[in-house]
Amino acid sequence: MVVILKNNPDKGQLNNLVTWLSGKGIDVHTTVGASQTILGLVGDTTHLDIDLISALDIVEAVRRVQEPYKNANRKFHPQDTVVKVGDTLIGGGNLTLIAGPCSVESEEQICEIAQKVKASGANLLRGGAFKPRTSPYSFQGMRQEGLRLLSLAKKLTGLPIVTEIMDISQLPLFDDVDVIQVGARNMQNFELLKALGAQRKPVLLKRGLSSTYEELLMSAEYIMAGGNDQVILCERGIRTFESYTRNTLDISAIPVLKQLSHLPVIIDPSHSAGKSELVDALSCASVAAGADGLIIEVHNDPPHALCDGPQSIRPEAFDKLAKKLKKVSEITKL
Ligand code: PEP
Ligand code: MN
Repeated sequence: MVVILKNNPDKGQLNNLVTWLSGKGIDVHTTVGASQTILGLVGDTTHLDIDLISALDIVEAVRRVQEPYKNANRKFHPQDTVVKVGDTLIGGGNLTLIAGPCSVESEEQICEIAQKVKASGANLLRGGAFKPRTSPYSFQGMRQEGLRLLSLAKKLTGLPIVTEIMDISQLPLFDDVDVIQVGARNMQNFELLKALGAQRKPVLLKRGLSSTYEELLMSAEYIMAGGNDQVILCERGIRTFESYTRNTLDISAIPVLKQLSHLPVIIDPSHSAGKSELVDALSCASVAAGADGLIIEVHNDPPHALCDGPQSIRPEAFDKLAKKLKKVSEITKL
């Protein structure tokens, strides 16, 4: 349920309302906008008397929210959420570029790529240390050592780090990580989501391979219900009957998620396509459709990459693409 307040509500009456609602076991989330203040009520609101609340002097309107996600719902929070990571703002009309290899492979590799993507305008560095691989015989990531190398690259370039967590037990190792990624395969690992809700680092939540928008938003809700509202949604391609591409980039996800939710939406064109030659077109299409940013796999030697070489673009290609995306972003804002 959302309670929309009249302009300049009497503070005493507002406090009384919030205290009364809290007494009924309802969590009240207040959003103060430029023209309106909104109270988002989370909890069992079925027994609340809408007419009683509507009749209060300070109340403009009361609406039930049908969707099962509340904190993630745009009705609760009409303004875009902007997640701040270092000097970078994600969401709210900014274009954020996250770039780096699928996996951290060595100090030389991650440091070289970090310096190059930074010079091209990347805002954050990606790199997997814990890798979810389909085969147990594939490279599983450098794990703790990978995190150490990411920290070195961060020190060298100043780029904040985005890296994937696969299990709650890894959380204590993520101290120097700036944005914690939840991969597609873990989108519904609810215990992991709860643990990430209980901490305060931003979370990049990737859409599951066969998940609906509502399921993605419910996973975001798990994190937000724990008090962490720093969630970034990521569309990374979904399973369809098409097998030419690794996955199918769902462009509709951008306008739909932005309509349903206030959370930033970023696109992963690399895992969507599975082919480096498609990354340019999918990135431009995503920015034109209103994406808040991109997470792109960049490798200095794709043919020898330990993971996802075929979909990784070279630093020179990233440099060209970053320039193009700035232009697409400017045109899209017209
Ligand atoms: C990744 O970003 O390296 C990754 C494994 O992505 P996804 O979870 O989307 O497959
Ligand atoms: Mn990858």
